Amino acid sequence: MRPLNFDNRFVRELPGDTDGLNVPRQVHNALWSSVQPTPVANPQLLAYSPEVAALLGWTDADIQHPDFAQVFGGNQLLTGMQPYAACYGGHQFGGWAGQLGDGRAMSLGETLNSAGERWELQLKGAGSTPYSRRADGRAVLRSSVREFLCSEAMHHLGIPTTRALSLVATGDGVLRDMFYDGNAQIEPGAIVCRVAPSFTRVGNFELPASRGDLRLLEQLVDFTIARDYSELQGDTQEKRGQWFLEICRRTAVMIAHWMRVGFVHGVMNTDNMSILGLTIDYGPYGWLEDYDPMWTPNTTDAQGKRYSYGQQPYIGHWNLARLKDALKPVISDTNVLQAGSQLYADTYSETFGTMLAAKFGIRELSDEDAPWINGAFELLHKAEVDMTLFFRNLALLDVQQPTLTPLYPAFYRDDLLQQYHAEWEQWLQLYCQRLQRDGMSDQERQQRMNTVNPRFVLRNYLAQQAIDQASAGDNSMITELLDVLRHPYAEQAHYAKFAEKRPEWARHKAGCSMLSCSS
Ligand code: AMP
Ligand code: MG
Ligand code: MG
Repeated sequence: MRPLNFDNRFVRELPGDTDGLNVPRQVHNALWSSVQPTPVANPQLLAYSPEVAALLGWTDADIQHPDFAQVFGGNQLLTGMQPYAACYGGHQFGGWAGQLGDGRAMSLGETLNSAGERWELQLKGAGSTPYSRRADGRAVLRSSVREFLCSEAMHHLGIPTTRALSLVATGDGVLRDMFYDGNAQIEPGAIVCRVAPSFTRVGNFELPASRGDLRLLEQLVDFTIARDYSELQGDTQEKRGQWFLEICRRTAVMIAHWMRVGFVHGVMNTDNMSILGLTIDYGPYGWLEDYDPMWTPNTTDAQGKRYSYGQQPYIGHWNLARLKDALKPVISDTNVLQAGSQLYADTYSETFGTMLAAKFGIRELSDEDAPWINGAFELLHKAEVDMTLFFRNLALLDVQQPTLTPLYPAFYRDDLLQQYHAEWEQWLQLYCQRLQRDGMSDQERQQRMNTVNPRFVLRNYLAQQAIDQASAGDNSMITELLDVLRHPYAEQAHYAKFAEKRPEWARHKAGCSMLSCSS
């Protein structure tokens, strides 16, 4: 394998705990701990992303090298790798959880590619760390397939996200209790290598702040600004203020994208919120099928629905308020902290508003549009209509003589289609009148809509089918999904089967619409 150019600033410049003691504990006065991956029995490469390999300067030949699975299964290190686990805290489901940290993630190092881009490589599931608490530091195949595929799917949808280089089966079994019902079982283990400019989270700042360790907090803040936000100008205080605003802005944009495509993160705890505004930590996430703002795939959150689809913009705001609390002692301009909250709200409504206009194929939203847009979402919900198919097929309407026919494939239930047919037809009239006011040609409108309304998303049941097949030794569907999700806005007629709505058998199936945090 071609060597990578490592420049490990996080561990070179920030205080770390280097005694190598791998026992769960509270780590003070340090932002990271050195660790070593725990070797696995038989690492086998199941899938990889050629695009991410290319970012690192690697070709297929590098990936096919026998050492690749050894390195990305945690059995070997490449020259320059200095594995560490980051120390962070977080608010989980609304409450302060104290120290959490990378319990099963290990950063291998930061590489600089030939374009001068910094990419951090991180194994998820490579064994225990000082932050593993009572868990094993491992990840199961099912959750690793889900993280691998969704990272890449999100990227190709144009959504800020961490990436995934590889999916390696470990050959070891991992004990998991999927539904906390006392029936633990052995599942196959796997490791994903995630790739991002950095994996720093809101929780990295919250922990030193919670301990009153302002020196450590300031070090991390100024380091992050220098490494990850080097474009910011001004003196230290000015930069810190601008930096906070930029995090608020990026987070709003990211969440607007989630709402655009019907992505539900599922565990928006502050330890799962990237400081770069990237979608991070793919766990019990899911994709809206029938439109329902209260839907969450996460069974752990089933009661409160704190992290359901419709809550996401509010939770983003709440999480940034926790960041604001953490940064208060090191940002002297309190106006900036207030402004961040406003900037988040403004950016979100502006970005999502623009997206919504494009989704419906109109030039610009105005207040007068609210009634028919709200009407559409109410009907989508009441009539159990697939969000992805609805918006994609809406582009097929004949504005002169609209009929509901092109939208039929988006309906999950015939009885609800009948029940709301008349209401839908009334809505279509309003909608088409509105389209006519814009005077766009059908072709222009369709093109506009098809750049924001994907035909292909990683439907929950598709991910589960790929997992079931991989568990039986056949990885072909993982590769196939990776391939179709590369061009989510293209028609790809040969992949029509992957655009279909959830089949009836998957409605209440575990893994398809219900997921626990156990992974
Ligand atoms: P998550 O909900 O996956 O973001 O994880 C929350 C916290 O639990 C993080 O500190 C993780 O590192 C830790 N964690 C989750 N699963 C494991 C595991 N299998 N072994 C060790 N730590 C884990
Ligand atoms: Mg996490
Ligand atoms: Mg429902």
